[in-house]
Amino acid sequence: MSFESLGLEPALLRALAEQGYAEPTPIQAAAIPVVLEGSDLLAAAQTGTGKTAAFSLPLLQHLSHGAPATTRRPRALVLTPTRELAAQVHDNLRDYGKHLRLTSTTIFGGVSMGPQMQALRRGVDIVIATPGRLIDHMQQRSLDLSGVEVLVLDEADRMLDMGFLPALKRILAALPRKRQTLLFSATFAPPIKALAMQFMHAPREVSVTPANTVATTVTHHVHPVDAANKRDLLLHVLSQDSRRQTLVFSRTKHGADKLVRFLEVAGLRAAAIHGNKSQNARTRALSDFKSGRITVLVATDIAARGIDIDQLPIVINFDLPMVAEDYVHRIGRTGRAGADGMAVSLVSHEESGLLRDIRKLLKQDIAISDVAGYEPSHPLRLDAGAPRPVQGQRQARPSRPQGSSSRPQGPGRPHGASHGHGGSDRPAEGNRQRQRNRRRPAAKA
Ligand code: AMP
Repeated sequence: MSFESLGLEPALLRALAEQGYAEPTPIQAAAIPVVLEGSDLLAAAQTGTGKTAAFSLPLLQHLSHGAPATTRRPRALVLTPTRELAAQVHDNLRDYGKHLRLTSTTIFGGVSMGPQMQALRRGVDIVIATPGRLIDHMQQRSLDLSGVEVLVLDEADRMLDMGFLPALKRILAALPRKRQTLLFSATFAPPIKALAMQFMHAPREVSVTPANTVATTVTHHVHPVDAANKRDLLLHVLSQDSRRQTLVFSRTKHGADKLVRFLEVAGLRAAAIHGNKSQNARTRALSDFKSGRITVLVATDIAARGIDIDQLPIVINFDLPMVAEDYVHRIGRTGRAGADGMAVSLVSHEESGLLRDIRKLLKQDIAISDVAGYEPSHPLRLDAGAPRPVQGQRQARPSRPQGSSSRPQGPGRPHGASHGHGGSDRPAEGNRQRQRNRRRPAAKA
């Protein structure tokens, strides 16, 4: 299978060769011909599958054939749940479209509206936007959506989880009825199907990886550890790994900041990326990480959504996510497009229940091994009554590891220390988690 056989034109093939892409990923092979035909598309694909190119390439090819956009009237609209994802989609569109004469801009909050208005006034072919700021521009009449030929909803499930449905409906109402709509989502959960039924025209469905699975090139490791010793174990794991860059997940913004301060004191170059950081700080952290200026990026689940970092060798879960499905999203940052990856989770006794949920969801082996010097005082419990952390508990102060190599057996007394996870990236978080808990695995095409 080659990109050429999918019907892509020379300007795009040249850009792909320059990117070093030898052949299409399964989602690209399945989606590109369908989109080139002009059909609406409902695609189940998670981050890491090559989904961005799956919609970007045929989109660019379509736009290269029409007249350029006029002032304030873009010809294509890509909606994403987060600013980071919008910026990354924009980068990819620029890479793939470098030999075409198309223009694009991002529209998202956290930065001033002025430059966005100027770009729209000049006329851009493609707008990549988050829903909230796009609506601001619609209200200010700096944007006219009546010329949109193609709409892409990227990570639509996450947009719904984040409470963007009312905003989406307003945007959809401002678009022409006659258009092509491409919807990408990690799952085909009922709310996604409902959205598709309402706003799409006879969509073709493609689903190459069943939702809720991770790349098979990823190996999973769990190190049981007392909550109080996690930070020291993290340092130990980081020092064991000579590879340059590591993404570390923290359940909370506060926890991420504390961890960065701890790592910096230990002499590591680290930065945090989460919802309380300004857009500039987030962009800087990500570019510093990509350039190697910092080696450890500590991220919360929502902030990390869609982060595109090529071939990240290792992802560490400092604590486990409260929702098992977030583990899949976290791990989507490693083992991408065929590269090997490793996911290491530092798990305390209190998180046993969360680990049990993740094992159930993954249906894949997770190696559980103690690290000498950091053995937990309470073993993990993976039975039905396994404990879970309680929302709102604060993280215990760290203490030195005991240094013993034998692990006490039996239930022991309940452990007081737990990792704080009282904060969340958005007010709608509770809602997001409730919705997520109701999700069902996706149907296949
Ligand atoms: P995505 O799922 O869109 O986030 O893409 C995941 C990663 O795979 C990105 O870093 C892309 O640059 C990369 N990628 C996309 N398509 C290909 C391909 N056909 N061959 C190799 N890498 C790819």
